[in-house]
Amino acid sequence: MAPHLPIYLDHNATTPVDQRVFEAMRPLFCEVYGNAASRNHSFGWAAEKAVDHARQQVAALLGADPREIIWTSGATEANNLALKGIAQAYADKGRHLITQVTEHKAVLDPCGRLEKEGYEVTYLPVDRGGRVSAQQVAEAIRGDTILVSIMAANNEIGTLQPLGEIGQVCKQKGVLFHSDATQAVGKVPINVEADGIDLLSLSAHKFYGPKGCGALYVRRKNPRVRLVAQMDGGGHERGFRSGTLNVPGIVGCGAACEWAAAEMPAEAKRTAALRDRLERGIVSQVDYVTINGDRAYRLPQTTNLSIAYVEGESLMMALEDVAVSSGSACTSASLQSSYVLRAIGVGADLAPSSLRFGVGRFTTEEEIDYVVDKAVRGIQRLRQLSPLYEMVQEGIDLARVQWKE
Ligand SMILES: *Cc1c(COP(=O)(O)O)cnc(C)c1O
Repeated sequence: MAPHLPIYLDHNATTPVDQRVFEAMRPLFCEVYGNAASRNHSFGWAAEKAVDHARQQVAALLGADPREIIWTSGATEANNLALKGIAQAYADKGRHLITQVTEHKAVLDPCGRLEKEGYEVTYLPVDRGGRVSAQQVAEAIRGDTILVSIMAANNEIGTLQPLGEIGQVCKQKGVLFHSDATQAVGKVPINVEADGIDLLSLSAHKFYGPKGCGALYVRRKNPRVRLVAQMDGGGHERGFRSGTLNVPGIVGCGAACEWAAAEMPAEAKRTAALRDRLERGIVSQVDYVTINGDRAYRLPQTTNLSIAYVEGESLMMALEDVAVSSGSACTSASLQSSYVLRAIGVGADLAPSSLRFGVGRFTTEEEIDYVVDKAVRGIQRLRQLSPLYEMVQEGIDLARVQWKE
């Protein structure tokens, strides 16, 4: 059966709200509309109760205490609060932070701002798969290091970082550990105790919750993390983040966490099978394709492929009724090739001809088969027009060709 078009395979950019999550949110708009901070009447109490329940759902997914969850507008805000809030709270102890080069801009840009304000940031390089090691982190830690920030899973290539090992190093050295776990939460198990995480950012819209709601986990004991608020106002969220709570969004975030926890093993298996079917389908029918990112340590539903001898824009055009990302997801507005792909050694020529496929909860086998067929035929057609591909077929070593200026 032909699948319904267009096909959405960009679940690392955002996900649809799960109908069950939407049903949980529905009463919070027109019926239970109180301000969760209103302490004097039942409208407020009902909203507060809904928020407390959601706090428990988020905490349960992470192995945290509900009192350790601070609601934010998403992962960008959570990352800003973590990085700037820690930098300001611990400035007396030191002004050095450690992160790595393939972080999301929502980590790299706050780090850049901190550098302008006199902090020092070490950006660890990654290996060909996009990983950093705990040893690299250990060697970079100095007497004045206050925070290590390493993402759980990369948004472009899906590479998973060794959180548990890094957490252990940080604990041994007495340095706080933050992880932007936006791509990992709901897809792979994360436990703040087992992984030794002190602060963690998440965003509901990456795992079938609504946009505009996320959270920052902040450890309350062993050690108790201090944080300087970045948003001042009514003192909501124990003073860490003022502003009237987005109750429907928060309830959606909680429900999304609960469904993710319940269905994670089955969903990871199902999406991995679809991802592998997609990957196999293309790789087995098209030559000169490379799979980017670590093959052993990666998200179950992500694949990133570089397809040589086709031009990036034409490739996207060939996949017109399939939603995927090319080159880079978040900076694709500026026609730069992805800094993540460059960091793992993908050449500037190949980066624009790279596609990120993100399989989701509602993706079907029929959709995958359609996409494979469309991609394979599109690539073959483009290559028939490619003089470079023709030369390679004739056995000419392109590296040795003297190109005219
Ligand atoms: C999407 C994403 C963000 C930004 O999250 P928002 O909630 O959209 O602000 C941050 N980090 C990673 C790894 C992401 O994938």
